[in-house]
Amino acid sequence: MHRIVIKLGTGILTKGIGEIDTIRIQAICRQIAELRNRNIEVLVVSSGAIGMGMGNLKLRSRPTTLPKQQACASIGQSRLIQCWQNGLDPYDLLVGQILLTHEGLRIRNRYVNAKATIDQLLSYNVVPIINENDSVSAFEIRFGNNDTLGAMVASLAEASQLMVLSTVPGLIDMDGTGEIIPVVETIDSKIESMAKGTNSPTAVGGMIPKIQAAKIATAAGCETFIADGSAENIILRLIDGESIGTRFVASKAPLVSKKRWLAYFQRPLGSIQIDTGACNALIREERSLLAAGITKCDGNFHAGDVIDVVSQDGVPIARGECSYSSHEIRQIAGKALTEIETLFSDRKRFEVIHRDALVLL
Ligand code: GLU
Repeated sequence: MHRIVIKLGTGILTKGIGEIDTIRIQAICRQIAELRNRNIEVLVVSSGAIGMGMGNLKLRSRPTTLPKQQACASIGQSRLIQCWQNGLDPYDLLVGQILLTHEGLRIRNRYVNAKATIDQLLSYNVVPIINENDSVSAFEIRFGNNDTLGAMVASLAEASQLMVLSTVPGLIDMDGTGEIIPVVETIDSKIESMAKGTNSPTAVGGMIPKIQAAKIATAAGCETFIADGSAENIILRLIDGESIGTRFVASKAPLVSKKRWLAYFQRPLGSIQIDTGACNALIREERSLLAAGITKCDGNFHAGDVIDVVSQDGVPIARGECSYSSHEIRQIAGKALTEIETLFSDRKRFEVIHRDALVLL
């Protein structure tokens, strides 16, 4: 079945500072109901918890400390979810709240479990409303912005389309026409350099995380749109193929689920540096990583942890699950297979990172 993720920014869901835009939510809910009638499954990634909490506390600008932001989110999230349920009540649609943390999805069985919950909600004809679990996410375990979260949800749920709807109407061609670029086939460095920040008091996004989101989603085979969430019937118009905002074409060779999880859901716990021969073996010959090519190991990690593989000039080229701990890597770096077989005679496999547990960056 056709499945889409709609990510809505705080600026679209609220008016002024922290006041929910009920008319806007009603308009979005009407479109969601129409999509469900067309047999399209819809997931919503909704910002607005911190913004609404700010409104309730009568704060004029976004707090800068984490505890203050978390307090705002704690106040705002329950009100936000209630607004969504009110908006979907006329269509007899239930909402299901899912609050995710980066740390949770980093753990493979929780990732798989989150997908199962989403699938189950959708099969009950429920609309999942997803946000970051802001009130408990600490700095190092945060997604930080919902654009990235939207893309990760699209990847997790294997959606065919992601709509990033905010006050940003699309990607502007800064170097050329000054107009919105209608279609992006490949996200290269030129496209990335066109991204610029935002100054809105409630928003945390801007173009940089939106392009990052498009990168994550398109690599998962999900077509991505960045468009003006305030435009009338925007969701239905995008679904019907109208050219509005910027469309990022989905990769024709998407990464498989395990490799997406490695590439986009991990914060590597260390890195190993490899020589040119090993780089070639990984990139050109699509081989597993062996100890012989390792020149250096940074960080402390256990066997099974996810680490980065970097070239001699320090550029990350791959990421994968390492079969040895950092302590063991320091013992075997640069050594030939026969020596490692003697050192670790109890092991069945001697690849440092097996090809199936490795993704090229
Ligand atoms: N999770 C935040 C909130 O609900 C929003 C983050 C974002 O807009 O990117 O307020």
